[in-house]
Amino acid sequence: QKIELYTYLKNIVEHFDLALKEKDIRLDFNCPKGIEFNIDPERFQQVVVNLLDNALKYSDDETEISLSVEKLPKRVNIVFKDQGIGIPSTDLPYVFDKLYRVEKSRSRKSGGHGLGLSIVKEIVEAHGGKVTIESKLGQGTTVKISLREDV
Ligand code: ATP
Ligand code: MG
Repeated sequence: QKIELYTYLKNIVEHFDLALKEKDIRLDFNCPKGIEFNIDPERFQQVVVNLLDNALKYSDDETEISLSVEKLPKRVNIVFKDQGIGIPSTDLPYVFDKLYRVEKSRSRKSGGHGLGLSIVKEIVEAHGGKVTIESKLGQGTTVKISLREDV
């Protein structure tokens, strides 16, 4: 199904308005108009929701999150960035594993099952894409989804 990315993402982002307000977090949404994609809208929505959910859940109040789309000649990157608590480098290789959560103390506080990122990876790869994560403890996390435009 052909989906226009700007309208599609904008609509998902709006679902987070209230949650963002609660933590006084600003979401910087940046996406060129007119990029069309062949995606499964319901499944791909889980990707976006899981990543925004993490960005929000692992960020302090009054910080900033960004969702930006960059169009390259044959690929489109969808980048989620936060200024949250970050992930220790020793945990980073495992965060896409099913049920993996970083250190119980902070996990208990925030809740969750350690499934979000494993679902993200599965769905992105089912769309022929790649997902990568970079993080600095105490500084923030960036998740990048890269999709071929001709899928
Ligand atoms: P669920 O998504 O199932 O509700 P979860 O958020 O714990 O639970 P994942 O989304 O798979 O599970 O993330 C795995 C772990 O990676 C999390 O427990 C958290 O410690 C860490 N993590 C994921 N995203 C971020 C982020 N943006 N900032 C800091 N830590 C993160
Ligand atoms: Mg999660």
